[in-house]
Amino acid sequence: MRIRVFIALALMVVPTLSARPRLVVLLCYDQLRADRLDAVRPWLGTQGFLRLLREGVVAERCMYNYATTVTAAGHATIATGCNPARHGIVDNDFVINGRPLYATDDTLLGVPSPQLLLKPTLGDYLKANSPQSKVWSFSHKDRGAIFFGGHKPDGACWLVPHVGLGSSRYYPPLPTWVTKFNREHAPARVAGIVWQAQYVPSDLPDTVEWEGRFPGGSTYFPHRIPSDTASEDFWRAFALTPMAVEWLFRAARTCIEQEQLGADSIPDLLCISVSTTDLVGHLFGHDSREYAELLVACDQILAAFLDELDRRIGREHYVLVLTSDHGAGSIPELMRAQGHDAGRIHTDTLRARIERWFAVQRGNTPHQRLVRYFYPPWLWLNRTAATVAGIPFDTLCTRLAQWLTTQEGIGIVMTAGQIQQQTRDTGISGLVARSYRPDRCGDLAVYPREHWIFGTTPAQHGTPYAYDRWVPLEFFGWQLKPSTIAVPCSPADIVPTLARMLDLSIGEVDGTALQVGILSR
Ligand SMILES: [Zn+2]
Repeated sequence: MRIRVFIALALMVVPTLSARPRLVVLLCYDQLRADRLDAVRPWLGTQGFLRLLREGVVAERCMYNYATTVTAAGHATIATGCNPARHGIVDNDFVINGRPLYATDDTLLGVPSPQLLLKPTLGDYLKANSPQSKVWSFSHKDRGAIFFGGHKPDGACWLVPHVGLGSSRYYPPLPTWVTKFNREHAPARVAGIVWQAQYVPSDLPDTVEWEGRFPGGSTYFPHRIPSDTASEDFWRAFALTPMAVEWLFRAARTCIEQEQLGADSIPDLLCISVSTTDLVGHLFGHDSREYAELLVACDQILAAFLDELDRRIGREHYVLVLTSDHGAGSIPELMRAQGHDAGRIHTDTLRARIERWFAVQRGNTPHQRLVRYFYPPWLWLNRTAATVAGIPFDTLCTRLAQWLTTQEGIGIVMTAGQIQQQTRDTGISGLVARSYRPDRCGDLAVYPREHWIFGTTPAQHGTPYAYDRWVPLEFFGWQLKPSTIAVPCSPADIVPTLARMLDLSIGEVDGTALQVGILSR
């Protein structure tokens, strides 16, 4: 009798213990606005993106909850469950104590690292909970791999021109399988190969006049990857093609095999961030033929990857999350041609105009430059110049903000003082506040108007507008029941949601665990 009771208790306990996913796959397609898959739906297969939509838990309204929608900030939010105000990665580039830094700069080591990330990531929580958990991260961009991997991954690897799969000495030395991978799957193997349009019907226009040029080539298909592998153009071109996506997934699959990810009941984490979608989106626009062709190729690569996960790990043992680090708008000249109020603001021109405005403020006497740095949206001003001009700094900021809002293409301008004083956490000012840290942001936040962008890149993102904040979010595999999440949510909810599935305790985050349906056993 006692034995029977014991067995009954064991049966009750064992399923919950073995129920945790053995492998979490965090998959990000950089610059994939939530509606982009719909745009190519007729050409998608059944086993890739559509399988996730069919069999997964699908969030219908997932939007970033902050204003500066860029790659570094988005990856840090996905990985930590926090908004930039908390995780510290407020932009791709920012200034700390007067020193301009790139988000993955390491002021001590001098090599790319997550030093500037102020919060632990999912991988860090996993490692703290079970040191045997393995954490690996792969991307084309260093910031994609680094922020996903967190502070103590087993490896974070990205596409290093002239090397292949590389990393930095912040991380443990790369295992020998990476050397072998670089030998057997060197990007140089695709030198001279042509990227052909093959999926999307050719009666759709291939190009608009404002698209950028493929490195060493043109604005329309076919795009030939330069054959000189020593040239920068070769590496830029490679990263723009489906061949680079194939290469990244091959690296991830090799890692699963070599590192035995998901092989036991101790959960592991595999992060994959595809940057090609962002690079193609910037150069050709996300409504281009190139972007559509790329997504369909991504779909086939994803289908094969899911198939491999099913065979190697088992569908019930892994959970895969698909999302993006930000959305994007269309090329503004294209929007304008379609009748919208749209355009671009050249940052050098705007800086020059600010200096002229400042000269007028102090009666056209000689003066120091007012603008120290301008990494949109943040403008860092020279306080000494204000003092010399005899204008109180706060007054100067307020006046400049008022003047900026009258300039063509400028939409939202807030001074640091306004951001810190604002009490509402809703609307645009709330979004800006959640992107703001006084120690890392400038004196003024300057966002363009809707459909306007800063700079010369054909298409851009980085604003608080819905088209830049709106991304897909899907959970797939494990014991998840196909369903939809109808409530508004954000990628900051990913970590708390996964933490619940993993039975993992985590620190304070901005996101909340989403209600996801579990299949009854
Ligand atoms: Zn981008």
